[in-house]
Amino acid sequence: ATMPPLLSAIATCGRHGVLVKSAAAMERLGAVTRMALDKTGTLTEESARLRGTQVLPGSGLTEDEALALAAAAERPSEHPLARAVVTAARERGLRLEPAADFASAPGRGVRAVVTGHTVQVGSPTALLDGAAAPPERPADPAPLTRGDDSVRTAVMDGCPVRAAVAEVEDSGATAVAVLVDGRPVAVLAIAAPLRAGAAEAVAALGRLTGAPPVLLTGDNKRAAARLGEEVGITDVRAGLLPQDKVATVRGWEDAGERVLMVGDGVNDAPALAAAHSGVAMGRAGSALTLETADAVVVRDELAAVPAVVTLSRRARRLVA
Ligand code: ADP
Ligand code: MG
Repeated sequence: ATMPPLLSAIATCGRHGVLVKSAAAMERLGAVTRMALDKTGTLTEESARLRGTQVLPGSGLTEDEALALAAAAERPSEHPLARAVVTAARERGLRLEPAADFASAPGRGVRAVVTGHTVQVGSPTALLDGAAAPPERPADPAPLTRGDDSVRTAVMDGCPVRAAVAEVEDSGATAVAVLVDGRPVAVLAIAAPLRAGAAEAVAALGRLTGAPPVLLTGDNKRAAARLGEEVGITDVRAGLLPQDKVATVRGWEDAGERVLMVGDGVNDAPALAAAHSGVAMGRAGSALTLETADAVVVRDELAAVPAVVTLSRRARRLVA
């Protein structure tokens, strides 16, 4: 007996490490007219690495102390940046104190109470520009270290932390701010390598639709633009919160496009759901991801995305 074309295409995808949810999902994948891709964890590998820790003058902390605090707060998070911080702390043999009251805000970062202090780790824009209301502090914060006054000075003149962030972003890395009890104490530089074949996959996606793929990212402009150059994407939209990605996708859909959103299964779930078809890269949360995405690429290969679209188109032609 021969399988119906769409089911046979699903089976082929499965053999190549792509889980497709249903025949309807398989069919949607081939109907797309525009491609949008996320950056962190999608065009880049899921595992990022800590490149450096810059302790701000007057923080009263050593590099290791700042990193240990950040890692303690990040430990419950599955975000690639969080895992980079925790891995780096473990590699240095640092002791991670338990974290209480953990909370994470997609596209912004995390917050937790570590040794009685509120530690925030995340996007400099969100944490330093007050784009997000700073989470409440514990009622009676104990003094951090002797250096409390100098910490305030460093924060008030605003320069050291901004200079550190700019330096990291100029290098093409992602800058992550670490705040203790609302005060910036360190800036971390984190970078993830491009996935193998990323530029080829982007080019293939562009050829499939005839429209240049778009990069949608929560990361900073400079890191995003640099990555865009490396993979051949000129339409780069940076500094987006998860809901901004959703709004962008909806805008295209409303204008009659059928969008293929390629993202990570965690932060990009709303954008994957808003798109005509969503493809999630990576193993993280793949069972949950299939509730919003049409397909999950469990193999570390971006080339699977244009391959799946091509398979779907062939199967659709056979069905029709
Ligand atoms: P992208 O769109 O590139 O995948 P995300 O939406 O996942 O990026 O995150 C956007 C930004 O939010 C990151 O560049 C980082 O500044 C911040 N961020 C989000 N989660 C975390 C976290 N767990 N730790 C540190 N920073 C985070
Ligand atoms: Mg991402």
